[in-house]
Amino acid sequence: VNGHETLEFQAEVKQLLDIVINSLYTDREIFLRELISNAADALEKIRYQSITEKDMLDPDLPYEITIEPNEKDKILTIADTGIGMTRDELVRNLGTIAHSGSKSFFHQLVDADKKDLNLIGQFGVGFYSAFMVAKKVRVLTRSYLPGSEGYEWVSDGVGSFTINQAEGLKRGTTIILVLKENAYEFAEKETVKKIVQRYSNFVPFAIMLDEEKVNAVQAIWTRSKSEIKEEEYAEFYKFISNAYDDALFKLHFTADAPIAINALLFVPGENVERFGFGKIEPGVSLYCRKVLIQQKAEGLLPEWLRFLKGVVDSEDIPINISRETMQDSTLIAKLRKIITGRFLKFLGEQARENTEKFYEFWRKFGVFLKEGAASDYTYSKDIAPLLRFESSKSEPGKYISLDDYVERTPENQKNIYYINGPSRELIEAGPYLEAFGVRDIEVIYTHEPVDDFVLTNLAEYKGKKLVSADQADLELPELAEEAVNDEKQDLEGLELRNLTAWLKQTLGDRVEEVKESKRLVDSPALLINLNGYMTSSMQRVMQAVNK
Ligand code: ADP
Ligand code: MG
Repeated sequence: VNGHETLEFQAEVKQLLDIVINSLYTDREIFLRELISNAADALEKIRYQSITEKDMLDPDLPYEITIEPNEKDKILTIADTGIGMTRDELVRNLGTIAHSGSKSFFHQLVDADKKDLNLIGQFGVGFYSAFMVAKKVRVLTRSYLPGSEGYEWVSDGVGSFTINQAEGLKRGTTIILVLKENAYEFAEKETVKKIVQRYSNFVPFAIMLDEEKVNAVQAIWTRSKSEIKEEEYAEFYKFISNAYDDALFKLHFTADAPIAINALLFVPGENVERFGFGKIEPGVSLYCRKVLIQQKAEGLLPEWLRFLKGVVDSEDIPINISRETMQDSTLIAKLRKIITGRFLKFLGEQARENTEKFYEFWRKFGVFLKEGAASDYTYSKDIAPLLRFESSKSEPGKYISLDDYVERTPENQKNIYYINGPSRELIEAGPYLEAFGVRDIEVIYTHEPVDDFVLTNLAEYKGKKLVSADQADLELPELAEEAVNDEKQDLEGLELRNLTAWLKQTLGDRVEEVKESKRLVDSPALLINLNGYMTSSMQRVMQAVNK
């Protein structure tokens, strides 16, 4: 046959397919969500092309997805009139794991006891889920590019696939699944209809099942807030994020000036970065009047907001804006500023009015705000009031804000003190707090090295300097007479000089200097930090990085 070729799957794909084919899953039906979402992506791309460049194959085909269950032959077909694939694209897209993020998902999956394929779509390997239900997959495709040829891709998911030229195809892609014996239910119309309505109701193109349109087709974010039910929001979140959890927060807002914006944003139920899935990719897509300009747009939001899912629609964005110009477009910068500002304001409201839920957010996603506060000078001041910490005056397990600290601090105390340690217990067992405890000065406890970068970067809050409690030149107020312990006798003169000299000699290069201190109350000695620029915990990080 013309152009026939047999090709091996990339090694990772082989392993992935092995898991997909040989493990048992309860949620096999998600394969349909994945194939429909690929079809919708391909249609979004062709709709975009049709606006930006006129020259394409079959320009008059309607943009739609057709699903045909064939109960007699146990075959399920999913067809779209989208962008299609060239031969090279077929080989690359359906033979390798192309995205870098997917590889880490894949390694995670191989190692996991419970193989959670539900996440497969979030990591850019959704197509392969077809092999959960199909013993053979045929893909017929023809690219929108003028002059392109049609191709057929066939595989049983074991080791290799074949590619042939195929005559008589129109633009788009058709996926034909020859079902496994234990998956015949997916050739039944009613079963398929239910699955489509469960997972793909918000696909912005008609999904036709035996000439009947089975999905809602609506850009939910363009409707008025008062008309949208909570269930619709919940369903839409699951749809755009390929997730099965519920969103923690939802923010739907419009603005007219300085640019028109309609945004619908979600904080997911979980932070998957916590589970070692690697750095998540941005999850907010950019639209102009319901036309997708860029999916999961890089640069639309600051990097530390990469955990957000949702859509931003602005009619002021030129529809043919390219990825390159997006990065440094002043329009995008304005969008970014407005959305980020609104989101931070929203978080502030939640912290006041919905405190427990905000704490849940803080525990899961606080790390992203810290990243922003430590690295993004544009927003660090706006993030600061949202930061939460434990402190010597907070109840264990509860948090304080910098505002709480400032409010209960006497006017004449010019500093906000903090100290880093792995846990409350270890911090409180150490000698650093003594001097603060006897003076009734609150100390913020930071448990992660990033906290110290955050606080050093902020430098001050509401006119008070942020100071690490392990600093050498700490100046604390003199203690009142009665607080001083009379039974203990201070060393003086020669005795003191002898002791410090002996300590220095004994410790050698491990310490810079041994000095008398007024800070100690009960402990005999403590280590302090001579370098005023970095706290000890930051130095440990820098040493680890420089190794
Ligand atoms: P993802 O959709 O996250 O990229 P998939 O494994 O689902 O990962 O699909 C891999 C790639 O195959 C897609 O990025 C796309 O380029 C291509 N592809 C899959 N299905 C289609 C389709 N129906 N039309 C065009 N291209 C497709
Ligand atoms: Mg996909």
